[in-house]
Amino acid sequence: MKTGTCRCGNRIFFNNHECLSCHARLGRCTVCGSLTSLTTDEADIRCDACHSVVYPCLNQMHGVCHSFNQSAETLCRWCEFTNVIPPLSQPDRVVRWGALESAKRRLLLQLEDLSLPPFIADTRRTHRLRFEFLEDSVDAEGKPQKVTTGHENGLITINLAEADSVHRERLRVQFGEPQRTLIGHMRHEVGHYIDWAWASQVAVEEYHRLFGNPGEVDYSQAMKQHYERGAPADWHENHVSAYATMHPWEDFAETVNVYLDIMAIATTANDIGGQHLDLSPVSDAAKLVKSVLDIVIQVSEYNFDLGLLPLLPERLPPSVVQKLSYVHSLRSLSIDGQLPTQ
Ligand SMILES: [Zn+2]
Ligand SMILES: [Zn+2]
Ligand SMILES: [Zn+2]
Ligand SMILES: [Zn+2]
Repeated sequence: MKTGTCRCGNRIFFNNHECLSCHARLGRCTVCGSLTSLTTDEADIRCDACHSVVYPCLNQMHGVCHSFNQSAETLCRWCEFTNVIPPLSQPDRVVRWGALESAKRRLLLQLEDLSLPPFIADTRRTHRLRFEFLEDSVDAEGKPQKVTTGHENGLITINLAEADSVHRERLRVQFGEPQRTLIGHMRHEVGHYIDWAWASQVAVEEYHRLFGNPGEVDYSQAMKQHYERGAPADWHENHVSAYATMHPWEDFAETVNVYLDIMAIATTANDIGGQHLDLSPVSDAAKLVKSVLDIVIQVSEYNFDLGLLPLLPERLPPSVVQKLSYVHSLRSLSIDGQLPTQ
């Protein structure tokens, strides 16, 4: 993630809201997009980067957002993507909502940075993206109503329980997953959204060649089979995860998840790691993946030093790199599937 600079010269990280050095108020200005310090004089708050008068996002009163907007009494452009929030009367639910908003903001900033839907062509209007953070409940007849984390026609639903680390770890072990994180959920579900809003619209033939034709594989049948028999033993050769073998849609979503992980690492490496990686949509994706995997090997070793999990798989087979290159190429296509003329 890109960092910002406080007026005192201190570096500002994504979740900072007070400078540790000069105690300035910090946040993200939606006028100039900077992660910045803010100056409060008599009545106004001003962005130290663009000097605009700004107002706190309405969600700042719940402690789930650090954005500042051009107009008073408004939600910031990231909070606006959320349709349904948890009941505000329960403080533990608000804390979970805050964790989900933080992961969602990280996701949206990355999609904006990379020009992926809903920040490419007209997708924001033609294929609206929304989020709902819901929790399991019981209906009037006493029947349990379970919330399934998933995507449908631009609506991403996340079960609020996922913001509870104990719940998440239990499921991670149960499903044999290498990682289970909120940003991982966001990146996987937005993969389904990118499939629906963009990939299946602009580059469908190549999609079918690499991932298979989703229309030819019955989803519920595939899911039943996956949970009964598990993934084929050789899944590593063509897929980023065991789950990706279930259906072409899941293969695509899991690949987007890893692509966004890789691009996040590459962005941080350029911002604070002294690297000069070419992240543009026309750069060589295979070369970029290789450079990031070199970083992954190093950082995973630090993680192992502390008994933590590896950052990502240390090696990815050529067929997976081809799928990642396909996702990379989606950023430079226009609505008719063509590369834009230079
Ligand atoms: Zn400072
Ligand atoms: Zn600004
Ligand atoms: Zn906000
Ligand atoms: Zn999925």
